[in-house]
Amino acid sequence: MHRNEMYDRLRAHAGPWDIIVVGGGATGIGVSIDAASRGYGVLLLEQNDFGKGTSSRSTKLVHGGVRYLEQGNISLVMEALRERGLLLGNAPHLVHDRAFVVPNYDWWEAPFYGLGLKVYNLLAGKYGFGSSRILTREETLERLPTINTEGLRGGVIYFDGQFDDSRLLIHMAATAYDLSATLLNYVRVTGLTKDAEGFINGVTARDAENGEEFHAQAEVVINATGPFTDDLRRQADASITPMIAPSQGVHLVFDRSFLPGESAIMVPHTSDGRVMFAIPWHGHTLIGTTDTPVDRASLEPVALEQEIDFILSTASLYLAHKPTRGDILSVFAGIRPLVKSAGGATAALSRDHTIHIEKSGLLTICGGKWTTYRHMAEDCVNQAAMLARLPEKPCVTEHLRLHGFHADADAFGPLRVYGSDALPIQDLMRGEPALAEPLDPALPYTGAEVVWAVRHEMARTIEDVLARRTRALFLNARAAMRMAPRVAGLMARERNRDGAWQTQQVESFAEVARNYCPKPG
Ligand SMILES: Cc1cc2nc3c(=O)[nH]c(=O)nc-3n(C[C@H](O)[C@H](O)[C@H](O)COP(=O)(O)OP(=O)(O)OC[C@H]3O[C@@H](n4cnc5c(N)ncnc54)[C@H](O)[C@@H]3O)c2cc1C
Repeated sequence: MHRNEMYDRLRAHAGPWDIIVVGGGATGIGVSIDAASRGYGVLLLEQNDFGKGTSSRSTKLVHGGVRYLEQGNISLVMEALRERGLLLGNAPHLVHDRAFVVPNYDWWEAPFYGLGLKVYNLLAGKYGFGSSRILTREETLERLPTINTEGLRGGVIYFDGQFDDSRLLIHMAATAYDLSATLLNYVRVTGLTKDAEGFINGVTARDAENGEEFHAQAEVVINATGPFTDDLRRQADASITPMIAPSQGVHLVFDRSFLPGESAIMVPHTSDGRVMFAIPWHGHTLIGTTDTPVDRASLEPVALEQEIDFILSTASLYLAHKPTRGDILSVFAGIRPLVKSAGGATAALSRDHTIHIEKSGLLTICGGKWTTYRHMAEDCVNQAAMLARLPEKPCVTEHLRLHGFHADADAFGPLRVYGSDALPIQDLMRGEPALAEPLDPALPYTGAEVVWAVRHEMARTIEDVLARRTRALFLNARAAMRMAPRVAGLMARERNRDGAWQTQQVESFAEVARNYCPKPG
């Protein structure tokens, strides 16, 4: 993907686009893949970087949602389990299975969770990831050597999917690009334009890099702005009833010693009645999450002190070595775009996501989850094609392989997440051996990945590279800050930028990264 080439595509496009998508998260990029693979002309605009919003801040699970099963939402669980299986088939370089153990401290937990997780398994049908079963105390300790043993009776094991959210998103953007979609990051939609009858027929947009504005026309505009859904809806009609009740979720990241095995811990009931996970992720331990209603969505939400304390105290109940603030390597927050009420002409095609059409013709898709992005996109494009009277074309994404598809990506070691793109990255390392060196001893990321991200993945800033092309900021914020000057140097070389650009980049990255370093207790 090249930003200049995206602009060439934009300029070369004559007449209205079939579909303009606003928002470059899982929902918007999923929609652009679906629409482009049907043969529609698609333009996607993202105000910041792809995945800057919620889609880089998830728990990284491709799952049916054991919690929804407890709530009796069988159809949603079945839909998500099916999507989990399809995604594993389409992106095996980015999705893999993971064993989860529910530790049991009460006599009733083994039969209760054992039965529930059997049902979870059965609902997956042919998309199952492995059978659940009850574990003895010894088997539980073998799987979870650092679990709190006091009162431990045993556990229940089940299998679910795990992924790297923003890397999957970049590969999805590349898939849409390969299918001829035009996608621009750092272009904000500033307004919606209407025809003489008051129907939306396009957008006005501003490039954040050079301040230039442009107008693009479309048969239909899709609002996929996640937590910012109501802001764009207000551009169409100032009197809308808000749909989104934003809620914040926080994760803490620790080193691997807190959870050294290959299994994750699933706590089905925290003291606030939620589910909490401790998961091995990229050689670290990821623990979360919380659910805190917030007044407004922000692009860089900040974890509250009480959210950090809550995760630490819950983790301390289950881990023999109690984590403290001093052990936290990174803390990150994300905003759930929960749908509270749709009002008006809503087509609730699933109990999970919502598709809403304004009187002005703006089509909004929101809610749902990462796992179900493909199905959400299918529903959305069906509705959009009908609304815009586009020629009918069937959805073809069920078995559409995502960019970089590779059946044996494990062979690429730390470059596994790039799939087949690992080969040209290895070529870069061979061509210039200094690029094969890790940028910091704490993390495996190399200069070659920086170069690759700039040349082929539309990374524009240090933050794009360290937060979303690699996951350095999410894994170890201080190591990411140490890496920043070298990343700036490599990016400046690629993009022909001067020392002042590098200084400004390092400073603005440090400002963001400080939020990922918790205050000492
Ligand atoms: C804490 C947490 C944990 C989660 N864990 C999981 C999980 O493990 N598994 C799972 O399946 N799901 C999970 N989810 C849910 C999942 O992450 C979200 O459903 C999904 O990422 C939402 O994607 P989105 O594209 O709708 O929103 P976003 O990713 O927020 O994308 C919206 C984009 O729109 C852009 N935008 C806004 N306004 C404009 C404008 N005017 N012009 C241009 N662009 C604009 C924003 O910059 C943003 O990038 C989790 C969510 C949270 C918060």
